[in-house]
Formats: sequence, structure tokens, C-alpha cells
Amino acid sequence: MSDCIFCKIVAGAIPCRKVYEDEDVLAFHDIHPVAPVHFMIVPKLHVASLDTCDTGHQALLGKILLLAPRLAREQGLTDGFRTIINTGRGGGQEVFHLHVHVIGGGNPRPM
Ligand code: AMP
Ligand code: ZN
Repeated sequence: MSDCIFCKIVAGAIPCRKVYEDEDVLAFHDIHPVAPVHFMIVPKLHVASLDTCDTGHQALLGKILLLAPRLAREQGLTDGFRTIINTGRGGGQEVFHLHVHVIGGGNPRPM
């Protein structure tokens, strides 16, 4: 198995607090939440970052983004949420398996 921690979570080798799963994606709560609600949506396919995506990933990226509002609502974020995709070391990415953070329920600082 790959050394990628999110691939291990997708494979069930490392436990997670699951939010949603289908054949293409898994969503689970962040282990170090920065707000009352903080989960991530990840493709089951290993993709290192947004920077390594191409047009072949278009449908997958669209699916993940469209899932964000639906799952956010299901997690109680009826008033909105923040999405973050950290890309590369310069973007603060720590886990090199593409993921979209969905964050809410607190007092977001203006960006
Ligand atoms: P990023 O900085 O965008 O790469 O974010 C990686 C995120 O993964 C961080 O917010 C971590 O708290 C989170 N994380 C790392 N390991 C785990 C894990 N085993 N389960 C859930 N979240 C994790
Ligand atoms: Zn991976």
C-alpha cells in the first residue's frame, strides 16, 4: 500500500470519522478541527494536489465541489461555510493527496 495517509484512510487501514462515501469520494472529519465543523472531501483516486490535476480530473473536481454545500448543510452549516484547498508547500499543503476542507460553525476571519 502507498505511504499516503489519505489513501490508507480510503482503504480503511486507518480509521476516520466518516461524513460521506460513494464510489469516487470519501469525506471525513479533520483530526485537528479549526472550527466546530471541519471535514475534508477527498477523491478515492490518489491525486497529489490541485497542481497535478488535468482535464481528466474535471468531472471528479466538479463532483467534489458540488458535494461541499450538500454535505455542509447535512453537517448543520445552514448559514454558509468556507472551502479551502491548500496546494503545494507554498500553499501550506501538508498531506499530498488532494482534499477540499469544508469549515464552518465558527466566526471566520475575513480573508
Ligand atoms: P493540508 O494542510 O491542507 O494538507 O491539510 C491536511 C489536513 O489533514 C490537516 O488539517 C490535518 O489535521 C488533517 N489530517 C491529518 N491526518 C489526519 C487523519 N488521520 N484523519 C483526519 N484528518 C487528518
Ligand atoms: Zn493518496
